[in-house]
Amino acid sequence: MLPEELRQSVDADRTREAGALFVDVVARYFAETGYGESAVSPTAGHPQRRPTFDEPMPAQGRALSEIVERLEREFLANANRLSHPMYMGHQVAAPLPAAVWTEAVIAALNNSIAVAEMSPTGTAVEERVVRWMCDLVGYGPAAGGTLTSGGLEATHTALLAARAALEPEAWRHGITGPAPVIICGEHAHYAIARAGGELGIGADNVRAVPSRDWKIDPAALTGVLDGVNAEGRRVMAVVATAGHTATGSFDDLEAIGAICEARGLWLHIDGAHGASALLSPTHAARLRGITRARTVAWDPHKLMLLPLATGALLARDERDLSAAFAQQAPYLFHGGDGDRSPDQGTRSFMCSRRADALKVWVAMQRYGAAGLGALYDHVCALAASLHRMIAARPDFVALHTPESNILCFRWLPPGVDDEPTIDWLNLRLRERYNASGRGWITSTVLDGRRVLRVTLMNVRTEDTHLAALLDGLSAIGAELVAEPA
Ligand SMILES: *Cc1c(COP(=O)(O)O)cnc(C)c1O
Repeated sequence: MLPEELRQSVDADRTREAGALFVDVVARYFAETGYGESAVSPTAGHPQRRPTFDEPMPAQGRALSEIVERLEREFLANANRLSHPMYMGHQVAAPLPAAVWTEAVIAALNNSIAVAEMSPTGTAVEERVVRWMCDLVGYGPAAGGTLTSGGLEATHTALLAARAALEPEAWRHGITGPAPVIICGEHAHYAIARAGGELGIGADNVRAVPSRDWKIDPAALTGVLDGVNAEGRRVMAVVATAGHTATGSFDDLEAIGAICEARGLWLHIDGAHGASALLSPTHAARLRGITRARTVAWDPHKLMLLPLATGALLARDERDLSAAFAQQAPYLFHGGDGDRSPDQGTRSFMCSRRADALKVWVAMQRYGAAGLGALYDHVCALAASLHRMIAARPDFVALHTPESNILCFRWLPPGVDDEPTIDWLNLRLRERYNASGRGWITSTVLDGRRVLRVTLMNVRTEDTHLAALLDGLSAIGAELVAEPA
């Protein structure tokens, strides 16, 4: 028998009143960050900076209200506030609120998506969402896919499928002869080299094609392919990127697709960041040629602005995915009519898996393709706007014209002209600016130069916030150069 006290706790936690405690915390967070009046992240002077939660595990339970109160005071108050319009950091969104509330439904139902009988509605919703995404890509009726934890898993799975197509025996025997080669751009995400290592291809067999304007140079790709041919090596896949991590730029999918088609090569497109441009009539042309790809990675948790973790992998021929996982688990997967299993677990990496597709479905219902496209346009327009503001000032310089919502730029400290000092000052500036609580940005190295980088993923950010960013950086920069070395 369940002890009476425990039964009462569980019953109390099932009620509307218990849920409202959490909803109130989130609603207060949204309200507080909505107008950008609070700090973006714990500031250097914050009394509870970096709490360690260093205490023994509680032996007994306590009241839910007490826990939620602590959660708000210690956890939330010291977190990075992505909902703040001055948060312009990594490629993680200020999530659409309708999708945030959907999380509780997904967890309450806890229907696992791997097996259709465990998740009758979840499987149907995932199939529908995948179908809509395949339609946006322009794939035909043979297409299919799976939701994933993100772009990393999607690209890993795509390359596993490419390996199965080239070396079906590798599943049982491993790679036997000389390892095939994977080709990607020099600015590609580390997901590709990592998958090379994970899949027994070897990270050293992932070859980088030089870039021009931060994207794969198609002429250089031909050269690399000819070189691999001359060595007598086989190509397992070519990976092009739609929305490069550092700069948000798009590879020429049409040109790269034509080269791959002529040579019969598997083209995978890493569209983790940029594939959501398909929703935007203004930006969709950047993806021209995408249907030439066998597989496409697309993260709704990036530019469809959903909460983590919501990724997707689409395949032009869904059978490529079941072939990738050439393994059967008869106790789980019961098969279906014909040869298509209704169980998503037969074509994806995870076993137990959340019904994250429901968040995509709710966002699509709430905003429609037109609304999601307009949200995409807004964050890209912000990057273009920042680019214009920078062009009008002497103290900053942009490194590229933005093709999406990412911009890399540099602060030009007055009176300093040696490159290593400018690099060092830009790095310090970013640290000091973030610690001030006024905003939050990232930094990277481009062409050997240290740069500042913003990723605009909050639809409540406006031009006034961008102006505040440049003014804030400039003011903190002036303090930096005034300090004795
Ligand atoms: C973010 C990103 C990834 C990794 O995706 P996750 O969702 O973080 O797993 C891969 N490729 C590109 C181009 C990305 O921008």
